Amino acid sequence: MILLLFGPPGVGKGTQADLIAQHYALTTCSTGNILREEIARNTELGTAVKQHLEQGVLVPDNHLFALIEHFLTAHKNGGLLFDGFPRNINQAMVFETLLNTVDLKLDLAIEMHLSENDIIDRLAHRRYCRRCGRTYNLMTNPPQEDELCDVCHIPLVQRNDDTEEVIRRRMKVYTEETHPLITHYTSQNKYHRVSAQGTKQEIFARITKIVNGNSA
Ligand code: AMP
Repeated sequence: MILLLFGPPGVGKGTQADLIAQHYALTTCSTGNILREEIARNTELGTAVKQHLEQGVLVPDNHLFALIEHFLTAHKNGGLLFDGFPRNINQAMVFETLLNTVDLKLDLAIEMHLSENDIIDRLAHRRYCRRCGRTYNLMTNPPQEDELCDVCHIPLVQRNDDTEEVIRRRMKVYTEETHPLITHYTSQNKYHRVSAQGTKQEIFARITKIVNGNSA
């Protein structure tokens, strides 16, 4: 099974990606997490993309294709979950070609939806673990211990692209560049939208209903 999860920044994709991957035994490809790791490790790619992440704009497509190709080669034999890729029509088309070359095809594209006010509110409470990339929300999905990662037990931090100015730019980028994926995947009969309102279990239940309904 090949799933794609997309939605505006702060909608809770990371949290749902963890739950989905665990439930269906999928390997997750989170391009945001991969890029943040590259930046933290000061690699050539990290240096090339640092500014884009800080400014809240998309990284040039060619940087992503090499990552995806590498990921597909390593994990093509199991179920896969893509979180944050593709993010524009060009990426979606190249994605199809890359999947074809390893004899795979996308099953479902699920969009998580939330109002703009709710998004801004959620992002203000978002924290993540710099070591494992796990995301938390101090209001809706808090860690067990005060601001410490449940797995790594190190202090959680706020992403430096979670400032109001950068958030607004990322939402604009989402509307202009990522939103067209809805029409693209609707025309392929793969598009589903879920409300990202409610608890993480409620949202997860909506997603599993769609996935189970499509794999029957
Ligand atoms: P995310 O963690 O998914 O919110 O991604 C954080 C940032 O990483 C985005 O604002 C972009 O700068 C970059 N990024 C992640 N995935 C992609 C992608 N598929 N295409 C271009 N840029 C991306």
